[in-house]
Amino acid sequence: MKVPLLDLTAQYEAIKDDVLQVLHEVCQEQRFILGPRVSALEAELARYCNTADAVGVSSGTDALLISLMAAEIGPGDLVATTPYTFFATAGVIHRTGAKPVFADIDPDTYNLSPARLARAVDRIPKADQRRLKAVLPVHLYGQCAEMDPILDIARGENLTVIEDAAQAIGAEYKGRRAGSMGDFGCFSFFPSKNLGAFGDGGCVTVPSAAEAHRLRVLRVHGSEPKYHHLLIGGNFRLDALQAAVVSIKLKHLDRWTEKRRENADRYRRYFASAKLDDRIGLPAEKQDRHIYNQFVIRVKEKRDGLKAFLAESGIGTEIYYPVPLHLQPCFSHLDYRKGDFPESEAAAQETLALPIFPELTDAQAAYVVEKIEAFFQNKL
Ligand SMILES: *Cc1c(COP(=O)(O)O)cnc(C)c1O
Repeated sequence: MKVPLLDLTAQYEAIKDDVLQVLHEVCQEQRFILGPRVSALEAELARYCNTADAVGVSSGTDALLISLMAAEIGPGDLVATTPYTFFATAGVIHRTGAKPVFADIDPDTYNLSPARLARAVDRIPKADQRRLKAVLPVHLYGQCAEMDPILDIARGENLTVIEDAAQAIGAEYKGRRAGSMGDFGCFSFFPSKNLGAFGDGGCVTVPSAAEAHRLRVLRVHGSEPKYHHLLIGGNFRLDALQAAVVSIKLKHLDRWTEKRRENADRYRRYFASAKLDDRIGLPAEKQDRHIYNQFVIRVKEKRDGLKAFLAESGIGTEIYYPVPLHLQPCFSHLDYRKGDFPESEAAAQETLALPIFPELTDAQAAYVVEKIEAFFQNKL
């Protein structure tokens, strides 16, 4: 049996007629950049995320970058974040001229630990404390970070809060949607995210019309009116074809999310009867609505052997992420060392993402757990 990590073809079949119709319409309109389809999607996204507004941008990475630019983060500034995330989270901090300050994760959720964040902030030398301008928590795998204590720390230090919600559209924390808790909520429409475009795309949610306006100006090179520049922005525009596709998919998102959550429950049942407790850790559901962009298990020993065995059995898996950011060669100038963030380093050794896409069948989920069981029975 084949179980790919992600299969988008079944999803496409279900929405094909609507998608082809709207793509045809955009082609006839010949209006490709921003415009009414992008504005319409922005209103839908703001409603979905329960924010004052949303601004469509060119990618999740650019959503983060434009938010840092809107917050006027730049050379000499510090931004606190997690080292256990997709590269873009810290890459954008460096690109503004600022420096990432890492704090370790909570080993249960893989999200930024509020206690470690507080300690990392305290450890910044007195003379540099004023340089800390923002905190960038990530809602990893589709579960919100523990936001209340993070927001408390941010308030105490007067920090801008930028949520990296690229993996977490529709996730909730104490009834609040991802992207609605900080000053900026950054989303990605990369095809493998729960709400994926047919290419690159993203958006930033904001709590005020003034911030939305600033983002819309930065999105077009800081131009307002046209060819007059008070700010230096970039080309961060979303195009009409992507907006049209995302808008169609958004109508189905809650149903797809429920399917992902049901698949997670199903895995939990199969793992419970497989009695692999001493080998496998299942994802902790700490917050209200985990949207399972990834279903990530912890494999205490022989993770890489298991991954290879599953690949031989036709099962796609992935390691998110094999090298924590403080150990990436490009960040060696930050002077972090192995051992600085033991929870992130352990996670990098032990995590494995299993297929969880909405159309995964019961037989496929059963097969995945059966093969994991077989690996530990035969190979150890
Ligand atoms: C996908 C992702 C991004 C970047 O989004 P792109 O649209 O690929 O640029 C940023 N942060 C996290 C946590 C992501 O998963």
